[in-house]
Amino acid sequence: MKLAVLPGDGIGVEVVDQALALLARLDNKYNLGIESEKALVGGCAYDAHGHPLPEATLKLAQDADAILLGAVGGTKWEGLDYSVRPERALLGLRGELNLYANLRPAIVYSALADASSIKREIIEGLDILVVRELTGGIYFGKPKGVETLPDGTERGFNTMVYTTPEIERIAKVAFEAARKRSNKVCSVDKANVLECTELWRRVVTRVHQEKYQDVELSHMYVDNCAMQLLRNPKQFDVIVTTNMFGDILSDEAAMLTGSIGMLPSASLCGSKGLYEPVHGSAPDIAGQDIANPIATILSAAMLLQYTPAAGENGQAAARDIENAVQRVLDEGYRTKDIHTKGMKLVGCAEMGRLLAERIE
Ligand code: NAD
Repeated sequence: MKLAVLPGDGIGVEVVDQALALLARLDNKYNLGIESEKALVGGCAYDAHGHPLPEATLKLAQDADAILLGAVGGTKWEGLDYSVRPERALLGLRGELNLYANLRPAIVYSALADASSIKREIIEGLDILVVRELTGGIYFGKPKGVETLPDGTERGFNTMVYTTPEIERIAKVAFEAARKRSNKVCSVDKANVLECTELWRRVVTRVHQEKYQDVELSHMYVDNCAMQLLRNPKQFDVIVTTNMFGDILSDEAAMLTGSIGMLPSASLCGSKGLYEPVHGSAPDIAGQDIANPIATILSAAMLLQYTPAAGENGQAAARDIENAVQRVLDEGYRTKDIHTKGMKLVGCAEMGRLLAERIE
């Protein structure tokens, strides 16, 4: 498996180091055949090459089976022109690699259930996956803009567009993911108001009938889904939805779990994917060895789960990581962001070491 490693800026470097140490251990245990190569991305790439996504980095990402990314950005680069800001590298990678499916699991570990603002009994044991369409919909549809009308007032407009193939491919990602989980998909739309999502519902239903009848499919309007995520989130397994609805619902689902330092993500195009924590480069804690590496480590678990080049053992290796996280939390180890009274406070590197030990 060819792995492109892009640590990026700030805590990105610290958390990716820990994930790599774990991957190396799993490589030994399962013979995964990982060949990894590092490249600069974000602010550090701008400093070295004058661009946040240098050609060589993009080429490495294009040639890889999977990409593991830390985070980009920081106060140092805030004054730069938008075209060369570190965050542009993320848009560049998503666009160039056509990463159309964004997967964000929201898992509540019972040891951390009290970190959520929602009552323990509602979220304990929660394990849902939001599959968001990432390259289409209203964020990219044309025409868009702001125009001045003859009477001097202004008119702003965006267009929500989806084509049949765009909906088919994201629906397939959701159904395939559900088959590896609890086999349930809820497709979220606003088909009662938006014609575009009426098509969405029709196509998802057809894909289901043609190929995925073994998976349980339901449909829900987005306003109801926003409510149900707070009222009874455990009713969901996989939620599949449009770019804008997914943007909002995945943040809502993530917050059920309490801490940003625990949230992994994957952005996929077919079998290829970019795996990264949901959080940013956290300049306020960078270089202090206090960042939580678990979001990135769980992103590495997704990488093993979703990359065919990881082979048959990829699934077992991914489960090893998830079990190690569960055990370390049950044993009371906490980084600062998830620390509560009576728990054992550890740093970033120590958390990585404890997890690696549990894999042995
Ligand atoms: P952030 O996610 O970096 O930090 C938000 C807060 O959460 C901070 O207090 C930080 O200390 C804390 N935090 C984040 N990750 C943590 C971890 N693993 N362990 C412990 N605490 C953690 O968001 P921000 O402060 O809004 O942005 C900082 C920089 O990161 C900006 O330049 C922003 O553009 C960039 N950013 C990058 C990405 C990305 O690379 N995908 C995502 C979001 C923000």
